[in-house]
Amino acid sequence: MLVLNCGSSSVKYQLLDMADRSRLAAGLVERIGERASRLLHTPQGGDARERTGPVPDHATALKALAGELAADGYGFDDPELAAVGHRVVHGGQRFTEPTVVDDAVLAEIERLVPLAPLHNPANITGIRTAWALNPGLPHVAVFDTAFHTTMPEHAARYAIDVATADAHCIRRYGFHGTSHAYVSRRAAQLLGREPQETNVIVLHLGNGASASAVAGGRCVETSMGLTPLEGLVMGTRSGDIDPAVVFHLARVAGLSVDECDELLNKKSGMVGLCGDNDMREIVRRRDAGDAAARLAFEIYVHRLRKYLGAYTAVLGRVDAVVFTAGVGENSAPVRQAAVEGLAGLGLAVDEARNTAASKEPRVISPEGAEVAVAVVPTEEELEIATQAYALVTTAGDTDGNAVGAAHRNAAGSTGGTSNR
Ligand code: ADP
Repeated sequence: MLVLNCGSSSVKYQLLDMADRSRLAAGLVERIGERASRLLHTPQGGDARERTGPVPDHATALKALAGELAADGYGFDDPELAAVGHRVVHGGQRFTEPTVVDDAVLAEIERLVPLAPLHNPANITGIRTAWALNPGLPHVAVFDTAFHTTMPEHAARYAIDVATADAHCIRRYGFHGTSHAYVSRRAAQLLGREPQETNVIVLHLGNGASASAVAGGRCVETSMGLTPLEGLVMGTRSGDIDPAVVFHLARVAGLSVDECDELLNKKSGMVGLCGDNDMREIVRRRDAGDAAARLAFEIYVHRLRKYLGAYTAVLGRVDAVVFTAGVGENSAPVRQAAVEGLAGLGLAVDEARNTAASKEPRVISPEGAEVAVAVVPTEEELEIATQAYALVTTAGDTDGNAVGAAHRNAAGSTGGTSNR
């Protein structure tokens, strides 16, 4: 399986062997459209190869990565290539499962561009370009929003005028769904439990950050909304604010809608609060006595604690709180501060477990804790490959029911083998 994750100026990719779920190659083409583009390709067990030079568009980027794969002996026309899995950010309400791409599906993804104007166009370009390289191959779209489509209506709807909301598809969709799906399932496995019987709060803390409440394997609440702006404090995004801040800035400071958008998405969060969005640097500055970094850190973890309390109430019973993504996997100080004072909710971390260096899924709460606190490294590409592979290996039947069944089976069966 080849997995492609196309951003506006980058393509990330992985080639996976589904027999043992190993990574045959991984790479990245970045700064597409700029003069100094860069390709970094790492074959399994080999040294990384770096190439620099102009890569004007996604088509050129895909040809370049195809060339690197070919040098390792893997072609786009290799009969062993089962399919290409594409990350697609927004699937709206329409796409609740991975879907084999055809012209109608592409048109539908295109129709959703107003909901994800930065992401979906790049995803569409990636699909079209890869399709052109091998039209005979199945291309499967795996949506960031899909895992959250099980949210009940009372969690997905904003309390605004229904007619206006429906006319403009305004509701809470949530993002990072592939990660929340994988991590919640893997956490249940780590605890030796069935996902269907486990309630998990996942904190996906990367540069973008989101929380989800997963009850018995189904998402019932998530912190991102119509767009990825809502919810937790992020690297450059504010997360929750009073929407009237925007009206106020327009009226009092004369900011345009686009300027407010830029302020809240690009110049807020940790960058807005202290000038840095790398948690390592923020913690270093805080420990050196920097007041802005300390306050930024406190605001960040205060928001996490609020969500842990809220999602505990949403779930009623919590079996595990799971940290993932760049900050969640690596920042012991954030994990420790996020559960500080929450002993009343059964939450605590064991200091030695929390600070031990590891890249493996692990429990970091004390022995016998009421609620397990865990770290599970996310594997979004593997999850995309797993879901897409399950779909294309199911008797060539792409009607909704068969696909749904295939996907559910895949999700269940992978629970037992996903600890690599
Ligand atoms: P995204 O995929 O959203 O770009 P990642 O999940 O890769 O983000 O997370 C990136 C962030 O992770 C960085 O901005 C940094 O704050 C944080 N991070 C990465 N490594 C560490 C580390 N060792 N300690 C603390 N934070 C880290």
